[in-house]
Amino acid sequence: MSNSKLATPIQYVKGVGPKLAKIFAKLGVFTVEDLLYLVPREWEDRSNIKPIAQIRPSSFEVVKGEIRDIDVLQTRSRFSVLKVYIGDRTATIQAVWFNQPFLKRLFRPGMKLIVSGKVELSSYDHVLQLCVRDFEIDTGDNLKIVPRYPLTEGLYPKKLRSVIKTAIETFLGEMENENERQALLALHEPQAMAEIGPAREYLAFEELFMFQLGLLLRRKEYKEELRGRAIAAEPALLDEFRRLIPFVFTAAQDRVLADILADLKSGRPMNRLLQGDVGSGKTIVAALAAFLAVKNGFQAAILAPTEILAQQHYGKLAKLFEGMFKVVILTSATATDKKREELFDVDLVIGTHALLEAKVKFKRLALVVIDEQHRFGVHQRAKLLKKGVAPHLLVMTATPIPRSLALTLYGDLDRSIIDELPPGRMPVKTYYVPKNKRSDAYEFIRLKVKEGRQVFFVCPLVEESQELDLKAAVDEARRLQNDIFPELKVGLLHGRLKGVEKDAVMKKLLSKELDLLVSTTVIEVGIDVPNATVMVIEHAERFGLSQLHQLRGRIGRGSEQSYCFLIGDPGSEEARARLKAMIETNDGFKIAEADLRLRGPGEMLGARQSGLPNFRVADIIRDEKILQSARAAARDFIERDPKGAHNRWESQKHTVENSQKKLESSALN
Ligand code: ADP
Ligand code: MG
Repeated sequence: MSNSKLATPIQYVKGVGPKLAKIFAKLGVFTVEDLLYLVPREWEDRSNIKPIAQIRPSSFEVVKGEIRDIDVLQTRSRFSVLKVYIGDRTATIQAVWFNQPFLKRLFRPGMKLIVSGKVELSSYDHVLQLCVRDFEIDTGDNLKIVPRYPLTEGLYPKKLRSVIKTAIETFLGEMENENERQALLALHEPQAMAEIGPAREYLAFEELFMFQLGLLLRRKEYKEELRGRAIAAEPALLDEFRRLIPFVFTAAQDRVLADILADLKSGRPMNRLLQGDVGSGKTIVAALAAFLAVKNGFQAAILAPTEILAQQHYGKLAKLFEGMFKVVILTSATATDKKREELFDVDLVIGTHALLEAKVKFKRLALVVIDEQHRFGVHQRAKLLKKGVAPHLLVMTATPIPRSLALTLYGDLDRSIIDELPPGRMPVKTYYVPKNKRSDAYEFIRLKVKEGRQVFFVCPLVEESQELDLKAAVDEARRLQNDIFPELKVGLLHGRLKGVEKDAVMKKLLSKELDLLVSTTVIEVGIDVPNATVMVIEHAERFGLSQLHQLRGRIGRGSEQSYCFLIGDPGSEEARARLKAMIETNDGFKIAEADLRLRGPGEMLGARQSGLPNFRVADIIRDEKILQSARAAARDFIERDPKGAHNRWESQKHTVENSQKKLESSALN
């Protein structure tokens, strides 16, 4: 339970004040409790500091010694460098501070200092220099283990440490839970490195346990308390559907269909995540679920993240169900009041965000499918569900998220996985092409077009600016058409085209009136043109790994060998690692793991969009084991004592949701 003293706004903590409180807000810290929970993620063990002669360039080092000399360089504009030469018995090193000339007043030759930060060879005079992140005067009784807190502009590590120290002295005693108090103390002021691990684990477990308790209770409610429409799947009905499609389901598709059919007829609303790599055939699975819903006298809705994808689904499903069902599409471009009215009684509707508007109403909506779920927020899921009476929910994603992430993001959903591609698919061959070898790729494309294939050209992400991306695409299309491929038919697709225009371009592509399509990343999700077998991605180094994988998923969808050319100029280690992963594997799961390693979960999924929760202590990747045991413990608790579990959640819910909100707001900064 939150104690009122712990809810004290942080500006009343001694040494904080309104100005600093604003800076703390950026870290999601508003109250004393938040401050106590601003736990370090790393600690520096200063009990054994290296002699300076042993220091090498590295991302982090601690140096201890005496000030030998001080120097301030003032360059033009207001840029300044403070250099302090620190020496011990073995050598001397330069410690540098940028743009803090006032610090000079603190230092005198002969003074003993401990400084820490990144060590590099200075590009100017090739001597080792340490870019100071943190420093303190060596008094002989300094902390042996120093916590490292997140850095924020305007909040120096020393200041942060002193504020936290004050908060601990004044408020930690207010916490009722002895274990919690001890764990927090061990993280902020550890006496030995060995204290840290268990303390972190304890707090991470508590945090994950509460979170899982909430998710599992929600899932239980779905399963046990809500009644769903029973949707029957008679064998004759299934046969009828099978006759509509030109292929047979893969074993993996059959397996997930069995899960889905069991949900649909259970009388409880389905609440299922369908995962399957790009091209694994999720759409047809959704189509069968929709078919059954409609055959049972209900309505079904499919939500897609882009207009192009909605159009594509509409094109396919309207054809598949021609003469059987009334199928309608609704996008913001096509939404009119009349159109919305029509939805009230239509069999199957496919749409974009426009479906979520309050004006859109259904008479007997019993199935909601959300395609490319990772593109939507959690709130959007809830919005669409409200349009029916406990409708069945099927969310689909090609993002092969690792288990720990799945449990956190989708812990309230059941999960089915299509782990097999339709037969005859060949892995896409992927090559890196340096910029000056572009013309080789062009030659290859000419050959493939002659064989009747089609080609995607994906334009660089210029910046976080659609305007510029658009310009890049327009320029590239013009260049390719006029200078490189005058004999071929080049089309252009980008987000600014009107709905009908996009539709016209896609139709031309499908009917092979276009050889080449130049596009922005609007084709990233869902697009299915099996005859397109070549993709060129310009400035590939600018794209994230998951995004590259999604883009490449647009080819390799038919029985022909497909090729992907990554053109670019990878400047950084990380960019090289991304391209390497693309060249080495087509396996979405491996790609996701590499992406996770390179970028961390938040960025990989686009934290805000995906609804990935933030934790104060836990780290869902590192703490996967703790996550599993917290989930198991939460499940046990619910089974053993449903009422107790419910009460516990009700009493803590507020804290969990509150800290989520704060951390979310800090992510927006
Ligand atoms: P995704 O899972 O990426 O959404 P799609 O549903 O777009 O994949 O399917 C990719 C392609 O594979 C489509 O052209 C679809 O018709 C085809 N397909 C789906 N299932 C099968 C199957 N069992 N056998 C052959 N082709 C299939
Ligand atoms: Mg799809």
